[in-house]
Amino acid sequence: MADPVMMWPGYQIDIAQDGQWVESGMPERDPDWKMVDENGHGHFVDKNGELPTLRWVAQPCSMGHGDDCDSEGYFECLLCGEVISPGTRTPKPFYVAGMTTYTLTTETSTYEFGPTQWDALQAAIGATIESTLAEYCVKRTYGVA
Ligand SMILES: [Zn+2]
Ligand SMILES: [Zn+2]
Repeated sequence: MADPVMMWPGYQIDIAQDGQWVESGMPERDPDWKMVDENGHGHFVDKNGELPTLRWVAQPCSMGHGDDCDSEGYFECLLCGEVISPGTRTPKPFYVAGMTTYTLTTETSTYEFGPTQWDALQAAIGATIESTLAEYCVKRTYGVA
């Protein structure tokens, strides 16, 4: 939410921001995952999201990235070598903020500004205290004066 905006008497500013929830399709490591393997070795995700009891065993990359690529492989138990598949979960959707719209109602009209126009208006009226001048600044920024 944007900061409150100081305006002159008789002026009203409404600030609205749209946005949307975005879902990521890729599974992520489940921080609550834990298991005990065939040999009684416990496995879990530590507080840094790491797997301290497992070792990543890189396999030759099948995508042609060369020897340095370790995107393919599997985890095994550090103690007994059992292949372990750490648990995953579906990520929570996250909010992406969208466009902010400033709706300014003056004594005579209503104007909608985008962020860039609004910044320009703020700069233009910086030292203006007389409402007649303010309305003029508004109209000029809006392109109607
Ligand atoms: Zn690769
Ligand atoms: Zn083990």
